[in-house]
Amino acid sequence: MESDLKLVAQGLVRDYAGRRAVDGVDLSLAQGEVLGLLGPNGAGKSTTLRMLAGTLAPGAGRVEIAGFDMARSPLQAKRHLGYLPEHPPVYAELTVDEYLTFCARLHGIARRQRRAAIDQAKADCGLEDVGRRLIGNLSKGYQQRVGIAQAIVHRPDVLIFDEPTAGLDPNQLRGIRELVARLATRHSVIVSSHILSEIEAVAARVVILHHGRIVLDERPRGIEQAPSVVDIMLRASPDHDTLAAIAGVKSVESIGDGRWRIVSEAGRDIRGALAETAVHRGWQLLEMRSHTPDLESRFRELTRDRPDHAA
Ligand code: ADP
Repeated sequence: MESDLKLVAQGLVRDYAGRRAVDGVDLSLAQGEVLGLLGPNGAGKSTTLRMLAGTLAPGAGRVEIAGFDMARSPLQAKRHLGYLPEHPPVYAELTVDEYLTFCARLHGIARRQRRAAIDQAKADCGLEDVGRRLIGNLSKGYQQRVGIAQAIVHRPDVLIFDEPTAGLDPNQLRGIRELVARLATRHSVIVSSHILSEIEAVAARVVILHHGRIVLDERPRGIEQAPSVVDIMLRASPDHDTLAAIAGVKSVESIGDGRWRIVSEAGRDIRGALAETAVHRGWQLLEMRSHTPDLESRFRELTRDRPDHAA
């Protein structure tokens, strides 16, 4: 494994009662990288994250954290990993300090280092003043902070946060989002959401999951490299195959009223060739517009269910 890769997953598969929830997921996470895992509800995000975190055994495939194989060396692998599950176990009857002490022991932090580790985690998560409060009496936002504190108390390389802002009110949400962004400066992080803006706010890299498969893996700041869309309007009916054969054209679709949507391959400008072909063939080009779809529309497009693919 390359030394700067903190997490590697290959070929992850998981079925539930004969239905495939995760279908061949490959992922790697470099040192210091923040990866946003995006997908509609039911896409397989939680199942994937549980396999990455070692709380769910994959049906096939393997996971390595900081060079340790999750199946063969789970204890070592988990030492380098902090995980906030979708539904964190809430020990309502414990105080924050009791719970974090329990977690620090589970994570194998030596007794004499525990106090300092817990104080640091509380400081990082804004929990300094609530150490003696019962977790059950805290707001959902603070309970989420406690969940994050247990994930970082042992200073792991890799943090996995499953929908950390789900169910929070706008103020709590802002606090947790800022906390995740702060932690992302010091750790390698995978954070999931079904809301694009949540991911875009913190992650330099976005992976979109749909029906258990990765349908996109890229850095939004490189989105200019994305394929662009050219809509043309023609008076005459063009020949589909001629359009599709133009160099750099990825797909051609009729969108009605004499309009056609042409998608180019990444980084190719096909406008000149389109105009030339239209003139040459006598199709009478009436209109041409081109745009690069933003991540939002690509997310919608990539995760749209065709009627024959609806679950
Ligand atoms: P996401 O986190 O993207 O919403 P999940 O990983 O929770 O997706 O679920 C993926 C698919 O697996 C869904 O169709 C869901 O209904 C199914 N699923 C998840 N957990 C279970 C389970 N414990 N038993 C049966 N089916 C499950």
